[in-house]
Amino acid sequence: MTEVYLGRPTNSSLTSSNFRLSLITVTDSVSILQQHGIQPSAQRVAVADYVLQTIEHPSADLVWNRVKARVPYISRATVYNTLNLFVEKGLLRALTLAEDSVVFDPNVERHHHLVDDETGMIHDVPWDKVQVCNIEALKGFEIHDYQVVMHGVRKGTRRKA
Ligand SMILES: [Zn+2]
Repeated sequence: MTEVYLGRPTNSSLTSSNFRLSLITVTDSVSILQQHGIQPSAQRVAVADYVLQTIEHPSADLVWNRVKARVPYISRATVYNTLNLFVEKGLLRALTLAEDSVVFDPNVERHHHLVDDETGMIHDVPWDKVQVCNIEALKGFEIHDYQVVMHGVRKGTRRKA
């Protein structure tokens, strides 16, 4: 595990995703789905209501649990298929931040991530907070995407042994 100094992580510097909430409140899930060519069935809208607004970076099973609270009859397969559809249509990104663990992110703008090893929370880090150099030195490849995944704990937190 690597700890990276980011300065004091304040909510304002880490959650650019707050902006997203204000955008979503004026645009409802039904019209977002329609704008992306997705038939807004009741179950898809229920998934969208949660997953397009969350800053939790949830796994598919967490999405299922959250949505089940409102729509108890929704099946795991429906949630999985809906998430894959949203990714395919560009509404969500699927991220592998740890081995064997895919999480979903409604923030499809370029950004980096910071995993709080104490709480397990995944924070968004604005793109311009981190600079990656020497990408040109990777000869033989055209790099079309990358992101930095940092691990750390809040300053003053005693690290677990
Ligand atoms: Zn993110």
